[in-house]
Amino acid sequence: MSTVRSTCPYCGVGCGVLLAPGDSGRLTVTGDPDHPANTGRLCSKGSALADTLGTEGRLLAPRVDGHETGWDSALDLVAARFAETVATHGPDSVAFYASGQMLTEDYYVANKLMKGFLGTANIDTNSRLCMASTVAGHRRAFGTDTVPGTYEDLDAADLVVLVGSNLAWCHPILHQRVLAAKAARGTKVVVVDPRRTATCDGADLHLQLAIGSDVALFNGLLAAIYEGGAVDKAFVANVDGFDDTLTAARCARLDPTGLDRDLVDRFYRIWIGTERVVTVFSQGVNQSGSGTDKVNAILNCHIATGRIGRAGMGPFSVTGQPNAMGGREVGGLANMLACHLEIENPAHRAAVADFWNAPRLATTPGLKAVEMFRAVAEGRIKALWIMHTNPAATLPEADAVRDAIAACDFTVVSDITAATDTARLADVLLPAAAWAEKDGTVTNSDRTISRQRAALQPPGQARPDWWHVTEVARRMGYGRSFDFAGPAEIFREHAALSGIAGGFGRDFDISGLADLSDGDYERLAPTRWPVARRRGGRFFADGQSFHPGGRIRMVPVHWRAPEAKHGPRFPFRLNTGRVRDHWHTMTRTGRSARLSAHLAEPFVEIHPEDAKELGVAADTLVELTTPTGRAILRATITDAVQQGTLFAPMHWTGETAPSGRVDALVAGVTDPVSGQPESKASVCAARPFAA
Ligand code: SF4
Repeated sequence: MSTVRSTCPYCGVGCGVLLAPGDSGRLTVTGDPDHPANTGRLCSKGSALADTLGTEGRLLAPRVDGHETGWDSALDLVAARFAETVATHGPDSVAFYASGQMLTEDYYVANKLMKGFLGTANIDTNSRLCMASTVAGHRRAFGTDTVPGTYEDLDAADLVVLVGSNLAWCHPILHQRVLAAKAARGTKVVVVDPRRTATCDGADLHLQLAIGSDVALFNGLLAAIYEGGAVDKAFVANVDGFDDTLTAARCARLDPTGLDRDLVDRFYRIWIGTERVVTVFSQGVNQSGSGTDKVNAILNCHIATGRIGRAGMGPFSVTGQPNAMGGREVGGLANMLACHLEIENPAHRAAVADFWNAPRLATTPGLKAVEMFRAVAEGRIKALWIMHTNPAATLPEADAVRDAIAACDFTVVSDITAATDTARLADVLLPAAAWAEKDGTVTNSDRTISRQRAALQPPGQARPDWWHVTEVARRMGYGRSFDFAGPAEIFREHAALSGIAGGFGRDFDISGLADLSDGDYERLAPTRWPVARRRGGRFFADGQSFHPGGRIRMVPVHWRAPEAKHGPRFPFRLNTGRVRDHWHTMTRTGRSARLSAHLAEPFVEIHPEDAKELGVAADTLVELTTPTGRAILRATITDAVQQGTLFAPMHWTGETAPSGRVDALVAGVTDPVSGQPESKASVCAARPFAA
């Protein structure tokens, strides 16, 4: 086997990797020097990818009710139960829960089956937990979910502001890129985060604001931009909403941030005085009951100064997962159609229905992730298909979600292992091809489409996800519309549909790739969209948006406190997040001894004063309780967290002490616009654990 070029399956940086046979017969994985995202570098997780391969623990054959069976009987059963459920209870009685781990081609056929052929928009994704607030914020400002930034902007910026982002651990290669710019050209780095994280080590300034107060900080920045005479009047002349947004910002108070006024003024002076500024934001912004407002508060500052769409400047959302962006592009969220077309728009729906020759296109948005599993709990969803994600451990109120899945009439799980919290609950388990065994594309945070390529044969009867979906579609009578020979054919259809979206003036247009031959697809080099026949280049520098009339919109936003309120019973606010060397619920990274060595156990960070008051000693067990769940974690006593707050990572899912299941603690509060859960501000009680 010769060296295969592929893409790392973890975070949204989307680093290129080279897969080559090693001496011992196992693959070696190194960074691809020719990939623009990483130019050969890999972080700890990427460097350990080879440790995570192999067939140990893999699901090797379909299972029905725990018994191995053949593909035909499993697929016949899935098709029959979904068809029967739709016929008896209507299209909205079925649902599909997808994942940012899926490849674009897999996502495309799943979305097509649900929205076009089963007639329901009940397809949502774990990306709802990741960046739905960014999607909503982009759509309010630009009319489409368009990421203005590129990685080159980080190289060219004089100031990088990292908001709610532990970039050093969660997007390490981008962080290295920022530090390289700092070393080469003196780029200033400001971190805005309630926690002191590893990212603060390389920063010039850390604003340790109160949890959930970002809107107040950025409203204050907008007011300071105006008062400092830094508004770009020519740019703003073509923007809607400036006056109302400024009025809201000037009324805003800084108190909710809890920050020292001098520190804030210093930040404002640096931001206003630096034209080339990139504001990077991530889960600390998105995972919030006011996440969409936080996103727009940041966008407003860039729009008011015209610092958008030009080299070295702009707001820039970095996504958590390898293909969160690809999922957005195919319309894999319950409130979107395909190719950034709108489900509420009759002309868009008609065009997609015509293109797909779809018998019953969904006409209204479907249930978003948290709502979807509530509908499962209430018995409104009676047949559920979950692909490559573990909602029984990772959705808010995870214990209730686990119980809902267990009680669902019919649950199908496609995954590479039967050992996840969710797979254990499935009626039907479908064995999936893993990373390095499957082919397709992913889109990273800066809109670059890259190929994932197979270097290994899937073990046993494992098959790629697109095959699972198309085989079920074929058995439901939709074979002609799902008669794909492989991912290249699916990609061509997706690209051709994007040309129709481009015809409606939408941003996502890769119609220039619709005629790729199989060989062209196989050789496809990393390509940033748009790749349109009609227009290309950077977005928004010309002040043009995708709203009707083409004007960008500023959106007035007001600070709101996190919805869950403190009280004597639950006096702490719990922040959740990731660690450096693990990924999601550790299905893969848990197989690597060197990755597990970094932080071996689930833990909770507690401020020293709180620990003293609670009587908690370092490294002892602490019991956390919230209105929705309980977890036992090892105490890490540190002033990296503020007094009255706790931080716990979300990767561990075990039931015995120390037990992770941190998302069982998280309340199912969601942002009213995006539906994204507030994963960083649940109220919580803590006490020493007595076994
Ligand atoms: Fe993989 Fe992200 Fe690390 Fe790159 S930065 S190697 S994409 S985990």
